[in-house]
Amino acid sequence: MKLGFIGLGIMGKPMSKNLLKQGYNLVVCDVVQAAVDEMVSCGAVAAATPKEVAAQTDIIITMLPNSPHVKQVVLGQDGIIEGAKAGTVVIDMSSISPLVSREVAEKLAESGIEMLDAPVSGGEPKAIDGALSVMVGGKKQVFDQCFEIMKSMAGSVVLTGDIGAGNVTKLANQIMVAINIAGMSEALVLAAKAGVQPELVYQAIRGGLAGSTVLDAKAPLVMDRKFDPGFRINLHIKDLNNVMDTAHGVGVPLPMTAAVMEMMQALKVDGMGDDDHGSLIRFYEKMAQIEVKR
Ligand code: NAD
Repeated sequence: MKLGFIGLGIMGKPMSKNLLKQGYNLVVCDVVQAAVDEMVSCGAVAAATPKEVAAQTDIIITMLPNSPHVKQVVLGQDGIIEGAKAGTVVIDMSSISPLVSREVAEKLAESGIEMLDAPVSGGEPKAIDGALSVMVGGKKQVFDQCFEIMKSMAGSVVLTGDIGAGNVTKLANQIMVAINIAGMSEALVLAAKAGVQPELVYQAIRGGLAGSTVLDAKAPLVMDRKFDPGFRINLHIKDLNNVMDTAHGVGVPLPMTAAVMEMMQALKVDGMGDDDHGSLIRFYEKMAQIEVKR
């Protein structure tokens, strides 16, 4: 089967490579030529625009930074909508505003084009391993039609509701990850300043109630002082902006998320926007004048 894939960045590249490994033929597109060239060397076919991708395929995956990029690629000039026929499916796996997912899907529906919003969790390592968690919004019948394709890149693929539900689920995910990293940071900075080795604290608590996927993923990196992304602070700020807009739109105050958002803003101003979101600990380290290391 021939699929389109648009957006070959940190996530899109390994995801599309896994699709090639599973035997799918791919038509790819990105504004960065080096990314396209790399995929062509792996067996994909290049297209110059999203419109050209859509003209050659019936199912198109997008993995782009944020809402404006998705709107541009799907609905803009030389966009998917200009090349796609009725019955085409767009699977948008970017993390964007659920309100924009609904808006884009409505526009596509006018041309008989279906859409799923299917953002992912797991980051680059799980994208490489084909073990992402995919949270999907859309019609059950379209979900069933695309399930095997999404499963080729994922450990789990769950339909959470109608269009937009995938991105609402992703926003919930991003709230919990952000607050978990902040909690871990407060705890490890306290331990270090109180004179107890963070490594021993981590080993002592990771099997108890305070243990978490976030703790296991981030504490070792922090203690090794490794802050390469991973998931950039700037991208998490983007997600928390979408969280706050959506929350305020439906009438939900989020005091803890707002506090973590401001910490991330401070780190961005401090020149750490392109570092991993585990850098949140450096906000606390600066206040407490201590470094968490092995
Ligand atoms: P990225 O910036 O590395 O990749 C985005 C790609 O889209 C780039 O290659 C860029 O050139 C391309 N692009 C942008 N505009 C385009 C256009 N108009 N036409 C064609 N290509 C275009 O970002 P990423 O880290 O791969 O993240 C992609 C999405 O996945 C984001 O929404 C992000 O929030 C989400 N996400 C990322 C991670 C992570 O750990 N990096 C984890 C989960 C979800």
